Amino acid sequence: MQKVRTRIAPSPTGSPHIGTAYAALFNYVFAKKNKGDFILRIEDTDRTRFVETSEKEITEALSWLGLEADESPEKGGKSGPYRQSERLEIYQKLAAELITKDQAYYCDCSAERLAKVREEQQARGEVPRYDRKCREEPPKNKENCVVRLAIPLNGETTFFDEIRGEIKFQNKDIDDQVLLKSDGFPTYHLASVVDDHLMEISHVIRAEEWLSSTPKHVLLYDSFGWEKPKFAHLPLLRNLDKSKISKRKNPVAVSFYREQGYLAEALVNFLSLMGWSMPEDKEIFTLKEMIEEFTFARIDPAGPVFDLVKLDWLNGHYIRELSDENLADRLVNEGFVEKTKKEETKRYLPLVKERMKKLSEFESLAAYYLNDEVDIQTEELIKISDHSKEETSEILEKIRQSLAPLEDWTQESIEELLNKEQTETGWDKTKLFQSIRYSVSGTKTTPPLGETLEAIGKNRVLTRLEVAVKKLTQ
Ligand code: GLU
Repeated sequence: MQKVRTRIAPSPTGSPHIGTAYAALFNYVFAKKNKGDFILRIEDTDRTRFVETSEKEITEALSWLGLEADESPEKGGKSGPYRQSERLEIYQKLAAELITKDQAYYCDCSAERLAKVREEQQARGEVPRYDRKCREEPPKNKENCVVRLAIPLNGETTFFDEIRGEIKFQNKDIDDQVLLKSDGFPTYHLASVVDDHLMEISHVIRAEEWLSSTPKHVLLYDSFGWEKPKFAHLPLLRNLDKSKISKRKNPVAVSFYREQGYLAEALVNFLSLMGWSMPEDKEIFTLKEMIEEFTFARIDPAGPVFDLVKLDWLNGHYIRELSDENLADRLVNEGFVEKTKKEETKRYLPLVKERMKKLSEFESLAAYYLNDEVDIQTEELIKISDHSKEETSEILEKIRQSLAPLEDWTQESIEELLNKEQTETGWDKTKLFQSIRYSVSGTKTTPPLGETLEAIGKNRVLTRLEVAVKKLTQ
């Protein structure tokens, strides 16, 4: 039996797209499930959209996600080179072969003529396509020609999609596709089929948007007389409003998710839920577990919705599962905390971990532990205390004075003392505690007050209360 070999073939046009990560995940999982190889091929034949740094970013994104390719431009392998721009001669030779076999033909129609034909067809309400002039009257001069595939004029092209079943296209609806451009560069169709064949790709697993290209590819395989791979078209990722995922409504760069502090394993888990499901609808699972359970049959082709609320929820879960040591390492490695602050960070993690949905939130959640000063507004403080300016400053001063001699600076002793003060003064407990909380942390939500004060430390608490009182009496 043929060895399972899958690939992703991104075009290096910028920062890698989340759709590339999605395709990579399913290709990786299917390959590993079948003890096969997963290949990274760079489709860099469109020189106008080429971005120099993109290939490196793609490799880094795969490595961050734990979806390392077995063969790639960087690693090499038996089917290289893995950059299409380094394979031009192969495409040119094979395109010439198709011409000899009468499966393809030269075309010298100018851009102006093609535009005119298109306009006329549109005016007649027809689907615009090449009118096959050069198929009937071959150009005399082969210089500066493109090469087009001679699509059969009648009949239909069918193929089996592993997710969608049998798919049928009428040949009369398929355009005589350009295979080789006049500058000698192949189009996506030629390069992709040639490479999938020569790289012995057994399964082409790619996004739904390529479904309409597949009949052209099937006809190309037939023209060459090559065996076809199996095809699977993954469902299109959608925005919340069900439209195709787009930058305008959803961040689409993998780097965005990393910079925001999503954990790679959470993002992978989230992407695996896009159209695929685990038996018993288990929502949280590892890549290894997905590999164990993977079948195409569990993919629902109806477009899955890319829901960031769900991703946040999953990410929060993964953050809480990490040990403090591990989480501190992640914060340092991903650039959210300076290396020298790792130990200090570890101390505060138990206090903020519960509320952290992304690594990027650590800084704001822990600001009152990490920084010397906090920012408070007197108006806000008065609103929280629900007492006059004078009464508020008096009570905070009283609290400061009673905390000052406390030697056993622990959550229990602090709480005991604060409760005693509250009973004595007769203040509403919520209002009093919130006023203290805001004065010493600059926020209205923190873990329980005693715990917060203990972690902030005695000196800082006393200073912050003093600052609050001063601000109120100014
Ligand atoms: N270069 C195409 C892309 O950027 C590859 C499509 C395919 O997988 O065949 O997605």
